[in-house]
Amino acid sequence: MDKIKKLSPAEAQKIAAGEVVERPANVLKELLENAVDAQATQITIHIQDGGKTVIRVIDNGCGMSPIDATLCFNQYATSKITHVDQLPSITTFGFRGEALASIAAVSKVTLITKEPDTPWGTIVKIENGSITYQGTHHANTGTDITVQDIFYNIPARKKFLKTRDTEWHQIQQLFFAFCLANLIIDFKLYVQDKLQYTCPPVATLPERITQLFEQKTEQNMLPVAHTQQHITITGVASGHQFQRYDRSMIYLFVNQRWVKDTALTHAFIKGYHQVLEPGRYPAGCLFISIDPQEVDINIHPRKEEVLFLHPRNVYKAITTGITKTLESNLSKQLHTTVQLQQTRHTPHTPAFSHQQNTFKAFDFDLFFKQPVFSDTHLKSDEPKSPQAVITDVISELEKQVPLRIIAQKSPHTIIGQYDTTYILLQEKQGLLLIDQHAAHERILYEQLCAQHGNPTTIQLLFAHTMHMNKIDLATITAHLDLFVQHGIIAEPFGTYTLKILAMPLALKNAPIDDIIKDALGLINEFKELDPDAFAKQVQKKLYAAMACKAAVKAGDTLTHEHMQELITSLYTTQHRFSCPHGRPTHHLFAKNEIEKKFKRDYRKNIDQ
Ligand code: ADP
Ligand code: MG
Repeated sequence: MDKIKKLSPAEAQKIAAGEVVERPANVLKELLENAVDAQATQITIHIQDGGKTVIRVIDNGCGMSPIDATLCFNQYATSKITHVDQLPSITTFGFRGEALASIAAVSKVTLITKEPDTPWGTIVKIENGSITYQGTHHANTGTDITVQDIFYNIPARKKFLKTRDTEWHQIQQLFFAFCLANLIIDFKLYVQDKLQYTCPPVATLPERITQLFEQKTEQNMLPVAHTQQHITITGVASGHQFQRYDRSMIYLFVNQRWVKDTALTHAFIKGYHQVLEPGRYPAGCLFISIDPQEVDINIHPRKEEVLFLHPRNVYKAITTGITKTLESNLSKQLHTTVQLQQTRHTPHTPAFSHQQNTFKAFDFDLFFKQPVFSDTHLKSDEPKSPQAVITDVISELEKQVPLRIIAQKSPHTIIGQYDTTYILLQEKQGLLLIDQHAAHERILYEQLCAQHGNPTTIQLLFAHTMHMNKIDLATITAHLDLFVQHGIIAEPFGTYTLKILAMPLALKNAPIDDIIKDALGLINEFKELDPDAFAKQVQKKLYAAMACKAAVKAGDTLTHEHMQELITSLYTTQHRFSCPHGRPTHHLFAKNEIEKKFKRDYRKNIDQ
């Protein structure tokens, strides 16, 4: 018996609609994209019941002719392309011509639209995919489209709609994305007839962020501008002191199109590697600009994901853009000022003494990052840039005292130790607290990593012996090479004993047994990986474990010299703003914050 029956076009359309319309936020997205494509400068949105009963979008764009006002609901009816070859160069949001058809198949739609040069507009009502009413109507130029009762005719779908709040949350996120990507559009959003957001046009992204989020968010954002392999990343990203418990405040746009691509989000979060603790997330709004030929936006029915020709390049550009932004911001924030007048090791500075007042302070980072001290600056008669002057200073200082000594004696003002856990430093910008354990961990970790494969080791005067079971000993024996790479020279001794002959110098005070146990744990954890991935994972984690074991602990009393040494090393260490596990090493209590607390910010009103 024949069992196959062809579905009626209306039923088929309902099924196809499921691809585009899954929930109210998808409908709103399509309507907003159409409004943006229609060059609207004002868009007003009304939402009832999380979009489940009403989604209405009013725009002042180009509007539609009476014929287009009905045609637009046909499947594959679009004004945006005429040929599939045009897809790669598309710059509008729409092109498939299936959004309105899909929406009309699963809800009740009322469309009122008018083109600029006509006195009357058109009204079209649709139910169940068919036009129920059509006529002229008084209207402003633009389009006013109302979508009611989503899935009223498909109960099986309707029951999957979430609560009003959940649907509203999706809508809100979408609204934010459109506001962030379209600064010149005047957006208004009404919820249950109450004006919830009003966002007049703005000139800059931070201004938009202030309109949408709490002030704290904008204050914690850093500008991002990075280009790599013809991929440009711009926008803002949160600084290291800002963190969230979820990813919901990460907005990514590819060629102005909002995407919810997990791989891109991951690349963004990866930029915060070792800056944020595990389980914490950054916030940001990044615009990725890439040659349209290198990206396919057509792979996802709701156009939420994109396909790149060279995805790795894109991920790298994002991660690097973020890392660089964080690094440069933190260096700026935490630069240590060196008062030249106080440098006791410069008995005379003839070449530039007449300029002393012009460079009272300089960036300590720069001090170390400019290894090339050339004499040419001193000889030139041309006016010097502040940087050139600083280089001169360093060059002159270097002739008189070895750099190491300057570094060690440089006047960071160490106030002391607090709670035998934090080192207090007086900084130009305020009071800086440094977590002694986290900071020392980072210093040791970077030293160990830098020496990987060729570590500085110390021969133990008496070999250290460690007892273990046969299996563990066999595992270690099979990985003795790995240990050598990490500076641990060991050999099996009998069936149950490991003899350790040498250790990395940096671990001279560390508990050896614990480190061997950590290494064993890591080998077991990652042994299934391919050799490259194994080496990488073990290396990172083992060095982190070694650094943790060898670092000073909270509760250790530090002498002034010890603190000085630690701070000096820290300032020449890479990634010094967090420990290898991602905890911060620094916290700055900004001077102006402190002044505010003591109401000293209104200087005029205080006596002293
Ligand atoms: P697409 O956007 O992919 O072309 P849609 O189904 O979203 O498909 O829209 C179909 C057509 O209807 C669009 O190509 C456009 O010509 C017209 N249209 C839809 N919304 C608007 C609007 N707000 N203003 C002007 N024209 C619109
Ligand atoms: Mg569209």
